[in-house]
Amino acid sequence: MHSDRLDRAAIEQAICGRELPNDQPEHCRRCGGELWEGQPATLRVTRTTGETRWEIVGIWCPVCAPHELESSTLGAEDTLVEIEIAAGQLHPETWLQAVRPDVIDTASAHDEGGTDIDVGAVLMEVADGGE
Ligand SMILES: [Zn+2]
Repeated sequence: MHSDRLDRAAIEQAICGRELPNDQPEHCRRCGGELWEGQPATLRVTRTTGETRWEIVGIWCPVCAPHELESSTLGAEDTLVEIEIAAGQLHPETWLQAVRPDVIDTASAHDEGGTDIDVGAVLMEVADGGE
């Protein structure tokens, strides 16, 4: 079975509440505009295929945000996620975090030379099914 769509709900769950990686305010990658609490933004998050943790690798203001992924890193999964920026606070620290994530595009570029599907197990199941 092919699954070239990543699980959006799982990605959104992983991103919700994530602390943004840079400063307060964050700055748009393209125009340098300030991104504060309460503003919408778009994140690019990526992870190596097979890993569980998504890393935030890009942030844009709504004007500059890409609407689709133009390229994907081989062996990695890329996602564009629209978020709203919220303030997190745990005295005495404050930070900016992503809330209300909404995945708008995903891409997954697999190494063509390999697969980690257990072909033997799949064939066994087919045989047992009596096709
Ligand atoms: Zn911008």
